[in-house]
Amino acid sequence: MSSTAATPLAAPQPAADPAPAPLTDRLGRVHTDLRVSLTDRCNLRCTYCMPEEGLAWLPKPELLTDDEVVRLVDVGTRRLGIRSVRLTGGEPLLRRGLPGLIARLTALPYAPELSLTTNGVGLARSAAALRDAGLRRVNVSLDTLRPERYTEITRRDRLADVLLGLAAAQAAGLAPVKINAVPVRGVNDDEIADLTAFAAEHGYRMRFIESMPLDAQGAWDRERMVTADEILARLGERFTLRPLPREGNAPAEEWRITGTDAVVGVIASVTRPFCGGCDRVRLTADGQLRNCLFATRESDLRGLLRSGADDAAVEAAWRASVAGKAPGHAIDSADFRRPERPMSAIGG
Ligand code: SAM
Ligand code: SF4
Repeated sequence: MSSTAATPLAAPQPAADPAPAPLTDRLGRVHTDLRVSLTDRCNLRCTYCMPEEGLAWLPKPELLTDDEVVRLVDVGTRRLGIRSVRLTGGEPLLRRGLPGLIARLTALPYAPELSLTTNGVGLARSAAALRDAGLRRVNVSLDTLRPERYTEITRRDRLADVLLGLAAAQAAGLAPVKINAVPVRGVNDDEIADLTAFAAEHGYRMRFIESMPLDAQGAWDRERMVTADEILARLGERFTLRPLPREGNAPAEEWRITGTDAVVGVIASVTRPFCGGCDRVRLTADGQLRNCLFATRESDLRGLLRSGADDAAVEAAWRASVAGKAPGHAIDSADFRRPERPMSAIGG
């Protein structure tokens, strides 16, 4: 038998889609990162985020279905060059059937790198299933290690669950597990070094976020925001830090704690804005595309989907939205206007 006859015929391969044109705005910023909010609801009530009584949650029919989320992520990855998708909320672990949705996103032809931001309350029971479904990494919000203070900040007694959730995420291989904390003056700013030491000890990566005027109550106060400079000063009292090169367009500035493997980051959205390198676009739980956390206008992709629009029309609306992105958030300008939606309804 000749060698040619012995070679099995290769199955015909589908022609690869041509690389999509980059999703750029007028300033040439290329957008490859999509934040998808899966719900505006939450099981905590962090004081810097929402009021004790919660908010008027979106009615279920207004939320994107799983099919609609998958369709929009497919258009984003296949036609617009989206490479990474972070699932958020509200509290994304409250979304029913989340592992199934993640499995569907992972099975897309141009599957994005999938991560999740969570308060960690439900993570202990779901981390392994999320990892098995295709999730790669998690960020867990934790503002204090003191049980009473945790209950004051979040208005719920769930610190123990979050600590178990962090350990479960680590055990499931959702690495590196990152911890996000929002320091607020007079509330938890005395724990900046303690949180960092805790994270270093457990192999988690600590990041501090400057608080932003995105709380639902409109109570944000610049005087209570702890700035990046202050955070670094607090860290410097206990650790020696060596700056690390910035990873691509990542918003976090990072430092290695000398003598350890530990890394600590600061996201200085207010005092050191990184809008010039922003590569993000956001989809709310009710299917509105936002070109910026602080945008005051949105594009109704859900309406398009439900009116039977084809992928080309969705792509066009998406590109038009990004084209109109403002150069920066202008928090410091006199005519700054807060967006109508709070952080929990946009997806942080
Ligand atoms: N519920 C999840 C959580 O807390 O991780 C996901 C949604 S939450 C809106 C996402 C992130 O936004 C959290 O790390 C939270 O601490 C942060 N956040 C909420 N309100 C904020 C504010 N006013 N300024 C800065 N960060 C805020
Ligand atoms: Fe919920 Fe996250 Fe807002 Fe806290 S920060 S109330 S956990 S959405």
